[in-house]
Formats: sequence, structure tokens, C-alpha cells
Amino acid sequence: MTKFKIGIDYGGTKIEGILLDPNGEKLERKRYSYNKNYSSGISTVQKLVNEFDKISGEICTVGIGIPGFSSKDTGLVTNANSLWLNDKPFKKDLESALNRDVKLMNDANCFTLSEAIDGAGKDFKSVFGIIIGTGFGGGLSYKKEIIEGANQIAGDWGHQPLPYPTTEEIETQISCPSNNCGRALCAEQFMSGIGFADIFNKKNNTNFNSHEIVELDLKNDPRANLEFNLYEDRMARLMAVMIGVFDPEAIILGGGMSNIDRLYKNIPPLLSKYTFSNKVKTKILKNIHGDSSGVRGAAWL
Ligand SMILES: [Zn+2]
Repeated sequence: MTKFKIGIDYGGTKIEGILLDPNGEKLERKRYSYNKNYSSGISTVQKLVNEFDKISGEICTVGIGIPGFSSKDTGLVTNANSLWLNDKPFKKDLESALNRDVKLMNDANCFTLSEAIDGAGKDFKSVFGIIIGTGFGGGLSYKKEIIEGANQIAGDWGHQPLPYPTTEEIETQISCPSNNCGRALCAEQFMSGIGFADIFNKKNNTNFNSHEIVELDLKNDPRANLEFNLYEDRMARLMAVMIGVFDPEAIILGGGMSNIDRLYKNIPPLLSKYTFSNKVKTKILKNIHGDSSGVRGAAWL
């Protein structure tokens, strides 16, 4: 029997839910803030699910996109940047709070799945989804299914060191504060919205956020123009690594930085510089479902 589906996106400050009918049509979408702790997160998910059950009149299926992943070995959450989730039996605790099975998946995988099924990647067999927001991560999909991988981190290359680093990048002496990383030249520190702004501000002795730097770029500020040129080159290097391994037909960007239009024009011509091929056919695309991709992908789990 086809059922009503609930998809939940567990963010760092807000938890969002969507209710889809058996045909995949959106019936309702709600978002609540919560306190940054474990029990507040669980009770907020519970509140959303109860409200959606009531609207649909049945016990809906529940899929949740989380930062990090729920380990298949231990049942504990690993690699979450919402630190209170780490080492907690989140799946088990949610299942007892909600009285049903719950599917958990990395949030970048939820984004990738949503875009692969009926978003920007719907016409492609192999898709690499990248989320560039407060963090930087990715997910792989092949034939509309997620490739999770032996370590449950397939596609999540955002904490690998920046490839082909320049002298300027090495001299930043940036290393990563995250658990399980801590590496010099961690890509997230250069590519996330916060990381990008930090690098710009340090270099120019300013105090802008990434949105303000985008505005400066649109006004032809030479500092912002230069920093975006460097950013695009870094992204091309990172994408080329994934092209060398997975060679996706489409790379789809999500998260706040995906709204920067110049990336889609400037990155494709840079790819051949770093790719072992005489022609790069990979499409670099903006997501279609925007903020809804995470919750939609979670519902499809
Ligand atoms: Zn890192």
C-alpha cells in the first residue's frame, strides 16, 4: 500500500518537515526552531510527525536527513556538525519516540536524491550533489539511488585537503576544527560560505559576510572579483577530483553559495585544466528544489 510520506531535515538551528501524499505531491511544510540539544531535537521531530499524522489521518513513513550519518555498525551518529548528535543512538531513540521505523540519511545524500529523482538531475543517470552552505559536503547517486559506500561517506569529500594547493593557500595555514578532520588545507575551510568570507576578510582586513561579498562582486569591486576567481578555481580542482573517480554526468549545487550565478558560467571552462580528458562534458547545474531538496529527499527514503 502506498502511504503518506514525511521527510524531515534536521538542521543546526531549525528542523523542517514536509508531508507528501502517496503521489508525491506536497500537502504541508512546517519549520520549527529548537534548542541546540539532543532532547529538544527529538521532541521537535515528534511534534512535526504528530501534526502530519493528524493531517493525513494515518501513520506516515518517516525519513530524516541529518548532518553526518547513523553508523550501521554501532547505531550511533558520527561526523555531525550539530555536535550534540554525535555518539547518540538517534535512530533508536526516534523510533521509540515515534512508534515506527525511521530511515536516517546524511543530509547531502537527501539533497542529491531529491535532485536526482525529479530535480535538476532527473535526465541524468549519474549525479554528484554538492551542498555549499555553513558546511561543505556531497553525495553520489546512480540510477536514482544513493551510493552510500563502505564507510557511509561516498561523495562526502568536503573535508579532504584542497587539491593542487597554491602557495597562497598553503600560507593561510588553515586547518579544520571538526572532529575526525583537523587537517591542514581542509576544503570546507575554503569553500563554505563562512570559510570563504573568513579568507576574504583576513586578506582585506574587512568584516563582510558572504552575501555582502557577493554584492561587492556585482559592483565590480576588484577584491571581490579576485576572490571569486580564486574560489571558482578551487571548486574546479575539487570537482575534477570527483570527475576522475566517479565521472558524473551532472554536478548539482545546493546551499546558500549555490545562488551565486557566476559559478555556473565560470567553473565549466576551468574543469579541463584539471581533468584527464580532452573534453569535459559534465554539466554544472543549480538545484531546482532549493531549500526543499533536503526534506523532499528525506521523504523519498
Ligand atoms: Zn575538515
